[in-house]
Amino acid sequence: MSRCGSPLVARYDLFAAAKTFTRANLAAREASLWRYSELLPVRDPANRVSLGEQFTPLVPMRVLGDELGMDRLSLKDEGLLPTGSFKARGAAVGVSRARELGVRAFAMPTNGNAGGAWAAYGTRAGIEAYIVMPKSAPAINKVECVMAGAHVWLVDGLISDAGKIVARAVAEYGFYDASTLKEPYRIEGKKTLGFELVEQFAWSVPDVILYPIGGGVGLIGIYKAIRELQAMGLLEERLPRFVAVQAEGCAPIVRAFDAHQNESTFWNDAHTVAFGINVPKALGDFLVLEALYESGGAAIAVSDASIIEMQRRIGESEGLFICPEGAATIAAAYELRRRDWIAPHDRVLAINTGSGLKYPEVTIPELELLQPDATLRIDSGK
Ligand SMILES: *Cc1c(COP(=O)(O)O)cnc(C)c1O
Repeated sequence: MSRCGSPLVARYDLFAAAKTFTRANLAAREASLWRYSELLPVRDPANRVSLGEQFTPLVPMRVLGDELGMDRLSLKDEGLLPTGSFKARGAAVGVSRARELGVRAFAMPTNGNAGGAWAAYGTRAGIEAYIVMPKSAPAINKVECVMAGAHVWLVDGLISDAGKIVARAVAEYGFYDASTLKEPYRIEGKKTLGFELVEQFAWSVPDVILYPIGGGVGLIGIYKAIRELQAMGLLEERLPRFVAVQAEGCAPIVRAFDAHQNESTFWNDAHTVAFGINVPKALGDFLVLEALYESGGAAIAVSDASIIEMQRRIGESEGLFICPEGAATIAAAYELRRRDWIAPHDRVLAINTGSGLKYPEVTIPELELLQPDATLRIDSGK
């Protein structure tokens, strides 16, 4: 890409890759993101930095789907990856490539989960991590960065402010800039989410994919994966309709989509419980919007109240404790079903980007305290 300051995107010789990147060959390889090596930027397998990136499950949501009027609703649960979020995909590949390039230290701004993942993989690679995050980031993310031995600072501001501090540190100390889309390799890792879901859908794509948009890299990655598979003749030309899901308190992509723009503008006073998507202006916004327009997709904002309510409902109906960002995608699917934008029999895939276990600040009703000699009184009906 030519505009200065805009993202770089990795390209491959797809013709050469297609010789070994075949359905049969893939099926015989390990069930991890490393099976897609021809289309990953890590040349020497010795540089792979791994914490055990397994395939994540595609979970049918029959009970909740029935309640919401969608009979083929499923969820890809990325909360089971190392460090509890799909950021592990970007970090595994991004850090491996950094190691291959001889990087000794990197710096990055984060809202939380990316910092946790990059700190862990960085340490595993013997690379020093310098991380700046908003002081309001979840406590667990601060803890996991410190526990992984990273150098951590908090900023009295948003991720965009953290980004400016990192840019100054990069200029002064020559750190490798691991900010989203300033290095082109984490998207290559996140792309594997797309390859994986295509394999899980038996080499096809669902009708609708809903993704919670922060920096937008996950959605851009899935889109890129699908385009690469199509270019290699491994997938039909049809695209899934992509849905960008944001919170009402921070919805720059939705605002741009509604105004038919190709780029978003900075969202003032951004706030939402879904911290991973509290990004007021994404560097890759134009790529997200392109994927939405190309696929006949949509962009939709949901309220924090509906996110929290849906998070509880998903737990109660399906036994899954997912993160608020993931719950936002189901809340959005429900709204789009109500508007008939989603049809009852559409194959709808929601991406859960992280584990609910990383968000212990959920409020629950007060629990009854028993004495050791108590007997339980069970209300009939519940
Ligand atoms: C980072 C993050 C997102 C947003 O992902 P992007 O690829 O940056 O758009 C969503 N959910 C969680 C839990 C995250 O950590």
